[in-house]
Amino acid sequence: MSKLVNAERQSVVIVGAGLAGFTVACALAQQGYAGEVTLVGDEPWPPYDRPPLSKQFQLDGDESQVWLAPELPPNVKLQRQRKALAIDPRRQELCLDDGSTLPWDRLVLATGTRPRRLAQLDTLPRVLTLRTLDDARAIREALKSVASLLVIGGGPIGLELAASAAELGRQSTVVEMGPRLMGRSVPAAMADILLEYHRSQGIAIHLGRTVAALDDGAKEAVLDDGQRVPAGLVVVGIGVQANDELAAQAGIACDDGVFVDGWCRTTAPGVFAVGDVTRQRNPVTGRFERIETWANAQGQAQALASILCNPGEARAYDAVPWFWSDQGGARLQCAGALTGEQQAWRVDAAGGRVLVHWSGGRITGVAALNAARDFVQLKKLILPRTTITPEQLSAPAANIRALVQQALVL
Ligand code: FAD
Ligand code: NDP
Repeated sequence: MSKLVNAERQSVVIVGAGLAGFTVACALAQQGYAGEVTLVGDEPWPPYDRPPLSKQFQLDGDESQVWLAPELPPNVKLQRQRKALAIDPRRQELCLDDGSTLPWDRLVLATGTRPRRLAQLDTLPRVLTLRTLDDARAIREALKSVASLLVIGGGPIGLELAASAAELGRQSTVVEMGPRLMGRSVPAAMADILLEYHRSQGIAIHLGRTVAALDDGAKEAVLDDGQRVPAGLVVVGIGVQANDELAAQAGIACDDGVFVDGWCRTTAPGVFAVGDVTRQRNPVTGRFERIETWANAQGQAQALASILCNPGEARAYDAVPWFWSDQGGARLQCAGALTGEQQAWRVDAAGGRVLVHWSGGRITGVAALNAARDFVQLKKLILPRTTITPEQLSAPAANIRALVQQALVL
């Protein structure tokens, strides 16, 4: 990457004050960046973290656990409740919704995603989605006065929320269109165990079904096979779409996500993008994908700060994608790809399970349920040419940490 002139003094404007935007701003400050840094966010709150919103926050409503930092570094200016409306790449200006413009030398798009909606249910007051702190407050409030929650979508949003509502004593139902849970992010064999777990906790799960209609009077939903299920509150968790309109309107290459290379560069000079809004090369699959995880938003944002501070020395960002999902008493963790021609399980003495995938003799994916220690170790073997064998993994007396250390020094 070519060295930028006076890179350390350039003004950086970041659009989106979520985890990715916030992390770029803080990491620039930590690395001693001397230029002006402005963070523009359309929400009224200081930057906050989303993972608690479907989990602990639903149980205790403790907002002190969601803020990302009590204060921003002194050289970072935060413009809250301010929406960016357009980018002028030629004049290097960002147009805001109060009519003002912000000049930039480097522009960072960190605008995240928004929930997909179901048009036929969109206008009903008891049908909500979950992305923002306001959404989470509304769901928590609504749960206080209903006996049941229906979640449409069996992905992480749906299952985390259904588990939280069940812990609060509500009758939870999940309706998933696909043939299994977590179809986008968890291997099928692990999803089956998760299904069994949720059903054992009293959560009703309907696979291969959609909601055909809501019966407001009876506070029920009618499924496409005619079954009626309780639906005091309905939350739609059927995936997200990228907030990439700003980039698309400026002629930057997008396809439900802003295309970036390993240095977070978009197709417009001086414009970078990080976090959920990006479509980046997944080092495990080799495909350009949206990697919608907390770890990616944070890691890619830290990488961009190093790129902006030290453009001549920065390495491409190529971390193996991973995520966690706490669903009641089930802690799920997955890394890498879901596929591989060979698979093996490990079940530990406490009942924790790990499923490992191999492809071409390399480990390509690891999924763990209540087995965090083994997950952390085995994740290190994704991509390196070193590996352990399925027999080593499954041996009851195996010390996974020692095996991984050994494999890594070979
Ligand atoms: P976002 O967090 O979406 O932030 C983008 C910000 O930009 C938003 O505030 C948005 O309003 C703002 N914005 C958009 N357009 C504009 C504009 N034009 N002008 C100004 N501002 C704009 N991941 C995990 O790995 N594990 C978990 O357990 C987990 N739990 C989650 C629970 C919930 C309820 C949700 C919603 C997500 C969860 N995630 C989890 C995913 C993780 O939170 C996201 O990957 C992460 O928030 C992405 O950060 P981001 O900054 O890229 O995007
Ligand atoms: P997902 O796309 O992961 O899951 C949505 C599920 O709903 C998919 O299985 C989808 O099937 C299904 N679906 C789609 N349409 C319908 C329908 N009409 N009826 C029933 N089911 C349907 O997204 P989520 O909404 O769960 O999560 C949204 C975002 O939040 C993601 O970015 C996610 O990464 C993030 N998040 C992450 C968490 C974590 O990692 N722990 C926790 C919570 C949120 P199909 O795939 O076939 O469309």
